[in-house]
Amino acid sequence: MEADRKSIHDFDVSLICEYFSNMERQGPGSPEVTVKALGFVNNLTRDSHIADIGCGTGGQTMVLADNTDGHLTGVDLFPAFIDIFNNNVNRRSLRGRVKGIVGSMFELPFDNEELDLIWSEGAIYNIGFEKGLKEWRRFLKPGGFIAVSEVSWFTTKRPEEIEDFWQDAYPQIDTIPNKIKLLQETGYIPVASFILPEECWIENFYEPQTEARRKFLEKYRGNKTVEDFIENEKNEARLYDKYKEYYGYVFYIGKKCDI
Ligand code: SAH
Repeated sequence: MEADRKSIHDFDVSLICEYFSNMERQGPGSPEVTVKALGFVNNLTRDSHIADIGCGTGGQTMVLADNTDGHLTGVDLFPAFIDIFNNNVNRRSLRGRVKGIVGSMFELPFDNEELDLIWSEGAIYNIGFEKGLKEWRRFLKPGGFIAVSEVSWFTTKRPEEIEDFWQDAYPQIDTIPNKIKLLQETGYIPVASFILPEECWIENFYEPQTEARRKFLEKYRGNKTVEDFIENEKNEARLYDKYKEYYGYVFYIGKKCDI
């Protein structure tokens, strides 16, 4: 059984996308946490331009829109997420100020020094924390801010089962001081960091998946890939419950400075 266990890398992205498009958020987070992180950013005006990278269906982007006056661009690789994003924009009458575009975080469609703030919740791991910080820096104005959330170790030692899981899923997982050091070394003043509360995973991420899972299994009854994928998601939730004192999501907020 253990030897059979699959990793998230074994599944088709369109399957993962369809599953997560049934949820408001595609990663751990909450409106309170978004607002708290935004509280450390103090350069915004009506003319500011904010980019939300790996925005998904835009759960956190809409919170940003409600709490800022500037222009917001959400970027995500998956057109299905951006469709939902732009429907949300229209429903909330935010057109003109907020837009979602399909694009890759590896090739962002911004000019150098165009942005006042780069936001990215639960997504920078796709390019890697260090590479993302380095490559996105040029899009920020001098003194611009970056705010990203990233899975991190809370302790210097961990039980083998969880160490192995994360070494496979995301080998760049590291301790909070090491992540802050990277923030500093890549050209940002480390302004703040804080651990996301547990309910960001449990109530806002894993619990809504129970319903998404039910719908999915119903639609794809008898499909072995889907059943394996669901098993994989359940295993991740089980591990979180067992080992949540050792790891979690952390918000890192930095201010662009000279290197
Ligand atoms: N920020 C959202 C979504 C996090 S899930 C939230 O917190 O709810 C990670 C997101 O990154 C997904 O929406 C996925 O489609 C997107 N993503 C993955 N690879 C990407 C890439 N190369 N460029 C842009 N977005 C990407």
